[in-house]
Amino acid sequence: MARGKKFVYLFGGGKAEGKAGMRELLGGKGAGLHEMTRIGVPVPPGFTITTEVCSYYYGHRRRYPKGLERVVTEALRRIEKNIGRRFGDPHNPLLVSVRSGARDSMPGMMDTVLNLGLNDQTVQGLIAQARNPRFAYDSYRRFVQMYGDVVLGLKPSDKGERDPFEIILERKKKARGARFDTDLGAADLKDLVAEFKAEIKARLGKEFPADPYEQLWSAIGAVFGSWNNARAIAYREHYRIPHTWWTAANVQAMVFGNMGENCATGVAFTRSPATGDKGTYGEFLVNAQGEDVVAGTRTPRPIAELRQVMPKSYRELDRICKILERHYRETQDVEFTIENNKLWMLQTRTGKRTGFAAVRIALDMVEERMISKEEALLRIEPDQLNQLLRPIFDSADKERATKDGRVLAKGLPAGPGAASGRVVFTAEDAEAWGKRGERVVLCRVQTSPEDIRGMVAAQAILTARGGMTSHAALVARQMGKICVVGCEALHIDYAKSQMAVGSRILKEGDWISVDGSTGEVIEGDVRTFPSEVLQVLIGKTLAPRASRVYRQFSKLMKWADETRKIGVRTNTDQPDQARVAIAFGAEGIGLCRTEHMFFEGDRIQAVREMILAEDEPGRRRALAKLLPIQKKDFKGILEIMGSLPVTIRTLDPPLHEFLPKAEEEIVELAGIMNVPVETLKNKIDVLHEFNPMLGHRGCRLGISYPEITEMQSQAIFEAACELRKEGKNPFPEVMIPLVSSRQELHMQREIVERVAREAMKTYGVKVRYLIGTMIELPRACLVADEIAQEAEFFSFGTNDLTQTCLGLSRDDAGKFLPSYVVHGVLPEDPFVSIDEQGVGALMRMGVEKGRKARKKLEIGICGEHGGDPKSVAFCHQIGLDYVSCSAYRVPIAKLAAAQAALRDKR
Ligand code: PEP
Ligand code: MG
Repeated sequence: MARGKKFVYLFGGGKAEGKAGMRELLGGKGAGLHEMTRIGVPVPPGFTITTEVCSYYYGHRRRYPKGLERVVTEALRRIEKNIGRRFGDPHNPLLVSVRSGARDSMPGMMDTVLNLGLNDQTVQGLIAQARNPRFAYDSYRRFVQMYGDVVLGLKPSDKGERDPFEIILERKKKARGARFDTDLGAADLKDLVAEFKAEIKARLGKEFPADPYEQLWSAIGAVFGSWNNARAIAYREHYRIPHTWWTAANVQAMVFGNMGENCATGVAFTRSPATGDKGTYGEFLVNAQGEDVVAGTRTPRPIAELRQVMPKSYRELDRICKILERHYRETQDVEFTIENNKLWMLQTRTGKRTGFAAVRIALDMVEERMISKEEALLRIEPDQLNQLLRPIFDSADKERATKDGRVLAKGLPAGPGAASGRVVFTAEDAEAWGKRGERVVLCRVQTSPEDIRGMVAAQAILTARGGMTSHAALVARQMGKICVVGCEALHIDYAKSQMAVGSRILKEGDWISVDGSTGEVIEGDVRTFPSEVLQVLIGKTLAPRASRVYRQFSKLMKWADETRKIGVRTNTDQPDQARVAIAFGAEGIGLCRTEHMFFEGDRIQAVREMILAEDEPGRRRALAKLLPIQKKDFKGILEIMGSLPVTIRTLDPPLHEFLPKAEEEIVELAGIMNVPVETLKNKIDVLHEFNPMLGHRGCRLGISYPEITEMQSQAIFEAACELRKEGKNPFPEVMIPLVSSRQELHMQREIVERVAREAMKTYGVKVRYLIGTMIELPRACLVADEIAQEAEFFSFGTNDLTQTCLGLSRDDAGKFLPSYVVHGVLPEDPFVSIDEQGVGALMRMGVEKGRKARKKLEIGICGEHGGDPKSVAFCHQIGLDYVSCSAYRVPIAKLAAAQAALRDKR
């Protein structure tokens, strides 16, 4: 470590060497303690050993830097002076706590030792100080227990093993007929100290250390060591906290909440973390130490009761909470201890909160003139808005299910929200049961476009395979369905109509609940509530003034709209979803996938006839059947969207996705088509592809069979012309998929333009329209200047662009991608958040080259990334005109876009 580095920062007696802005060096807890001391909040004196020392410790085979011992001893002397007690003094001992504290809080993940400095001599001093032997021995037994656990490693090694100290404690309580720890007397506690020490000796073969300095250094080592315990590592991986941030260690004079009936300890929030309601919320315990509040051995009391029990301390706590909130201009989550009616603050940090609370607090604080509108917009995680839109589980009901061990498995949370229903295994069953009024959860190994009707009918979709952009996931999000995918623990047996999850077997018709926000799959029917925002906007069953949640949501959206620079459209092919998106303020449709329309009603037969036709006349006959149906679909969606742009994509998926697979379906189709079954089977075989995602799909279909593009264009323009005649002003944008060369687009464009001209001539009207392309292949980005000669707009299809850029199958990657992310091979799932380095570089190139060739080229994104906040920010940065996402992500994209604009300004 560089010479002259400061290892230790002191705080106490109204002065502190550190401050709030020094989280990197002092950790969150340390920075909070220093800042509180500075602003006059009562904090027991102490010092912080920096994260740099922790870094040194790990870099030098767990040794401390030279000189640390001296500064720690000096710092202890300062605490002693401040408090008038001496560390290790048998007559008047100073006891300390040693606590961890990383830059970002990692609640409960790292270790702490309390009451350090006790031994058989100093305990006598503590008895004399407090005139309370019971308290002194209670502190002593807690210390031995905690030290044994944290420093000496006598923790239970797995869930099945019980804490050895708890076993001894339980035995003692039983022997004394005591219900709570507090029912044990001084003599019992003294016995416990001896028994705990004997247990340590028996297990480790060594004495419990009596020297306070040895205790101190071992505890500091254990706190640093806890940075790398399995819990902490897993937590950091989950929340993407770098492993190199390290933890600080805070050594602080003990204050005691367990000295008697005028002592207490607790935690409090300056506003409710669940709802955002103003006021001090939290819990406390009389005559207890910190860990009792969280340990669950005694049930803590709501903070409101502190007002009756200790009115003076309550008033002081309330006053300090207000000071802290005003000082930090943010809701605080604090820890406190009351020692003989004197309140001490032990921690303050930004309070974690639900989406509801986040919105409420940010908006309230603007009203209270504590923060600006801009800050309010930046304070809310866009994804948290989801919670305001989705049905949610009744929390008590879910908690019960968790306690009863009914959480069966966890998959990827692909479509947020909560739903329960009866298990079905086929799309047909989902539809049939749905028609009977049953709530169902469609459980599939994976889904395909032909499952669409079943997906519509189901409350939720659950798949055993697939990643976040698998078919099930993207369709579910688009529909606003609750969905969990890639739940590998499910073993579905279609033949037996059942699935195994571990040792449990779920049969068709059994109840199951799916939490699409967490990925949890729960056995049984957990109760749900609909969101108020949807009740106001969509159901119209609630008046705006009757819902504060709605009013705040709509105010936030207004602010976001005033701030953002980038447009927000929606991906949809269904009129009801288009209505939802408009209610959320979508500014057009960025992607209408026409293939989903092919599965509705009995139109699939005509589609199949078209695909299996022997020649062009046969194909045209089948297409003629589809024309009026597609026209009706397009008219419906263009009409709902008024004069907003509607990007309609021509047919994209490989044709075999539309063909029957089951024997009886093939036989049925052969009958309808009047061909032998064998002929039909041969034709289906011919259409088989080894790698269909890279096969005969996208514009390649329209090039092989121009009549398909022709029919679809005719449907679009006849629909638009009819609307025009009715005095409306539709605005279709025809989009050609999977283009990689200028010539492909040129050939398709000629067809669309010709058909548009003919339709307008026939109807005698003019319709505004654009022709453009998806940019979803690396080559399209490389030759974007060429392609732009033919395109009036680009829309990045980042699902395929990610798949082709990384050579990573979007339907299979779910199997191994999570482990890639865990091991840091990739920073995150590239199908969720744009891989800025790779896919992002291609996008930048596409934008640059495209706009060079055509200055006014409109550019958007319609891949799933259009609804991911981080990707939205990236799209803002590279200058896209809009993002397009599923209806339910429109508000999230708007907020993310506003945040990107604000960050740009800063
Ligand atoms: C894409 O590839 O990003 C896209 C929007 O098209 P699809 O997901 O339908 O392939
Ligand atoms: Mg695509």
